[in-house]
Amino acid sequence: MTASVPLPYLQAYPPSLQQQAMGLVQSGRLGDWLLQRHPEAHQMRSDKALHGYVTGLKTEYMRNAAPLAKVVYDSKLQLVYQALGIHMRSGKNHGGKTQSRHEIRIGSLFKHAPEPFLRMIAVHELAHLRETDHNKAFYQLCEYMEPAYHQLELETRLYLTWLDAGGKRLWKDARDSDDSVNGR
Ligand SMILES: [Zn+2]
Repeated sequence: MTASVPLPYLQAYPPSLQQQAMGLVQSGRLGDWLLQRHPEAHQMRSDKALHGYVTGLKTEYMRNAAPLAKVVYDSKLQLVYQALGIHMRSGKNHGGKTQSRHEIRIGSLFKHAPEPFLRMIAVHELAHLRETDHNKAFYQLCEYMEPAYHQLELETRLYLTWLDAGGKRLWKDARDSDDSVNGR
């Protein structure tokens, strides 16, 4: 057994916080801690429900931003990009002028997660409609849409750390069987 758990999802945080997280992981208490904070899973289990949820947030906070062509769960995100979500922009020629086509993909792990986690990821990807980089304006926009953005991002990353360390999935029970193949 190694003395330290690798914490790829927490690398941007201060060492003291990483150490605390490692303690919670190694003692096996992180799962209960997360469940205590977020006992309930959301019900947005299909791409259609996810699309409705994300466009609802967009209408509320970013009505004038570019329209979304697609919003889906993606089972390959974590493996390929090690990302929670992703915003894809592709150029499309429309009668002589190029139009951007925006797509939001959210890791299918978050089909079974608390609503605040899903909201944090959705808010992050929506903010990319305006700001490409993770700069100050970007995070201000995230906090405008979700005041607890930073806390929720930390908790979401703690959940991924928990899973990485071999912890069980916390918001998925035996009756759930709907996220096997590409979220369909
Ligand atoms: Zn980003």
